[in-house]
Amino acid sequence: LRSFAPDRTPVVGFDPAAEGFFWLAGQGGYGIQTAPAMSRLAAALILRAPGEQPVDAATVAALSPARFHAS
Ligand SMILES: Cc1cc2nc3c(=O)[nH]c(=O)nc-3n(C[C@H](O)[C@H](O)[C@H](O)COP(=O)(O)OP(=O)(O)OC[C@H]3O[C@@H](n4cnc5c(N)ncnc54)[C@H](O)[C@@H]3O)c2cc1C
Repeated sequence: LRSFAPDRTPVVGFDPAAEGFFWLAGQGGYGIQTAPAMSRLAAALILRAPGEQPVDAATVAALSPARFHAS
């Protein structure tokens, strides 16, 4: 889908409020270019394999849907 997050940045990660729901969205505009990296990251997060993550923890946090939830 050609979806957009409010900050126009992809959303990748488990929803902090809905247990077991995983987001891979907000790729509108550059989803074709980012799909290989996003899919690798999604697989690592779903499999809970931090050593396999293609990006560092700060990038994981920047892409997480948790950024839209008040703490
Ligand atoms: C109208 C439009 C214009 C766009 N323009 C651009 C653009 O100019 N530039 C750009 O970079 N991006 C663009 N995008 C976004 C880009 O197409 C997507 O972000 C990108 O294709 C996402 O890739 P993906 O592999 O994550 O998902 P998808 O390409 O959606 O692939 C998911 C695949 O999984 C399959 N699938 C779904 N459920 C199951 C199941 N249960 N079992 C097995 N297979 C399943 C689907 O059939 C599909 O083949 C556009 C999107 C749209 C809709």
